[in-house]
Amino acid sequence: MCGIVGYIGPDPALPVVLEGLRRLEYRGYDSAGVAMIDGGLSVVKRAGKLSELDAALGVVGDVPGSVGMGHTRWATHGAPTDRNAHPHMDCQGRIAVIHNGIIENFTDLRSGLEKRGHVVDSDTDTEVVAHLIEEKEGALADRVRATVLELEGAYALVVLALDEPDVIVGVRVSSPLIVGLGDGEGFIASDVPAILEHTKNVVILHEGDIADVTRNGVRIVALDGTEVERDVTEIHWS
Ligand code: GLU
Repeated sequence: MCGIVGYIGPDPALPVVLEGLRRLEYRGYDSAGVAMIDGGLSVVKRAGKLSELDAALGVVGDVPGSVGMGHTRWATHGAPTDRNAHPHMDCQGRIAVIHNGIIENFTDLRSGLEKRGHVVDSDTDTEVVAHLIEEKEGALADRVRATVLELEGAYALVVLALDEPDVIVGVRVSSPLIVGLGDGEGFIASDVPAILEHTKNVVILHEGDIADVTRNGVRIVALDGTEVERDVTEIHWS
């Protein structure tokens, strides 16, 4: 279980995401990566410390976008390599997924996907999620919810998709995830320190919550699709 940070707002997402990942470094990790939306969906990821990711980003140049997410990985399925680092994408490169935890039934899901023609590139339990979302239709949050109903395990997920470039979707199933609410901006993170510099207003997602985060706030549904209200907690520590 490692670090997750997402940002949607008026500012460049990359510095917010990298700083958030740095604040979660105490958790330990073996790889790191980011995905940003700006017309296209860009993913940069590397095995090793955040300094390796920084170096890769230095080579790639600026990765623009005011919607983005980042992940630090503690490998459970698949060696800590560049290829297995998160984010993972669908066949078309239009959906990116980061994940903390374990998808227990990924082997069955993977063989079903491969039979249906998907090319699953990594050795992780995570990548199947991107391909399963790819097969669904409708709004991103609905596609994610339909996918989550097929998953077994303990996980937090964050998803970006080119079809809905102004939304970040997060899911909490037995692995913590919070949403931060700012002025015209939203955050998503595995732990409060990642976003505390930006906002003290936090929604702690409950088990099974699916959060649709935009610049205007958050809409949360339960696994059965019913909308739920969650309190906004003001964090007093610094
Ligand atoms: N099970 C996933 C993997 O091995 C996620 C591990 C994590 O929580 O960082 O890539």
